[in-house]
Amino acid sequence: MNKIGLKQLIRPLVRELHPYVYGEQPKIKGLIKLNTNENPYPPSPKVLAAVKAVVDGRLRLYPNPTAQALREKLARLHRCKPENIIVGNGSDELLALATRAFVEPVGMARRAVRSSQRDDPTTVVQYFTPSYSLYPVLADIHGAAKNAVPLKPDFSLPTVRELENQRKEPPDGVTPNRWNFDAALAFVTTPNAPSGRGYKTSDLEKLCRAQKGVVVLDEAYVDFAEENAMRLALKFPHVIVARTFSKAYSLCFQRVGYFVGHHDLIAALHKIRDSYNVNGLGQAAAVATLDDLKYYHANFKKIVVTREWLSRELTKLGFRVFSSQTNFILVRPPWFPAKDWLHKLRNQKILVRWFSAPEVINYLRITIGTAAEAKALVKAVRGIL
Ligand code: PMP
Repeated sequence: MNKIGLKQLIRPLVRELHPYVYGEQPKIKGLIKLNTNENPYPPSPKVLAAVKAVVDGRLRLYPNPTAQALREKLARLHRCKPENIIVGNGSDELLALATRAFVEPVGMARRAVRSSQRDDPTTVVQYFTPSYSLYPVLADIHGAAKNAVPLKPDFSLPTVRELENQRKEPPDGVTPNRWNFDAALAFVTTPNAPSGRGYKTSDLEKLCRAQKGVVVLDEAYVDFAEENAMRLALKFPHVIVARTFSKAYSLCFQRVGYFVGHHDLIAALHKIRDSYNVNGLGQAAAVATLDDLKYYHANFKKIVVTREWLSRELTKLGFRVFSSQTNFILVRPPWFPAKDWLHKLRNQKILVRWFSAPEVINYLRITIGTAAEAKALVKAVRGIL
């Protein structure tokens, strides 16, 4: 079969899909890697020991299919029941499962009439922009409709009143998409990525109260923030909180994330996940992590101190730095376009993240590393200036 023939075997939706763009993972010696919000500190020695302790002949066995021990520990931590928790192969897997479980696909055949479908709320995945760039990809993979609604220019959340007023304005073909309170699924990144902006739980609560469909509060970075919204997942049956062991708990490699929510929604997700979706080493590592939280709390403090120091230093050097409640900062660099800064810093063996999305094209996102890495970054910036 020739190349064109083979293409016909692939669903049109997949053929046309723009996949998620990963942060680069180069293996360059001496590189300071500040592009994917990884934690600069290693997992606790107890976690490393726990992982090593299970690397033996038992690797031939399947792991626990529901991550039972981990769910029990998480339930104690969050004062809920194991039935309120599902663990995933990273929280990314769970975000995808939520899309599949709660949103009706529009379907390729009906895509041609998509504009008239737009307002069928059962097909809508909704999110603010800028936020996690995976959400639109998940909607596209599922063949769902997307509704991307801009945050305010300072990346704060529009109030419910402001969102309601958007809907009253007549469509003019220019105004960006309006918020849909009936959308089947709304993702809210809190604190926001890539801006780092934190949101008040009281404001999130007002939004959740107004929303009719499922709301996923994506708290991937919440351990670096002043507040978290876990109580909303236990208060509202349609609200889920997403957490991950990747960032704050130095465990990206192991891929463990989880959702907390009403047991009916969580049960729906369990129904459609893969039987053994969380690998055994990841389960062991996450359980051991929860036994040594003090180690991680000390790391959060160090990262926050470095974040504030780096923010002040870059501000002095003419960068516009947005106040952050995460382990990264969004900055608008002076003198050269942000994309040029990306290359100039890379030449100095410092890797940061630049996004081509129009709302953040003039910015760089810089992960907070160790104090020494922050100093090296400031030195490199001085050299470039
Ligand atoms: N949510 C947000 C906002 C993120 O930035 C990330 C990491 N890219 C995730 C979720 C997913 O994290 P993981 O799959 O590693 O748990």
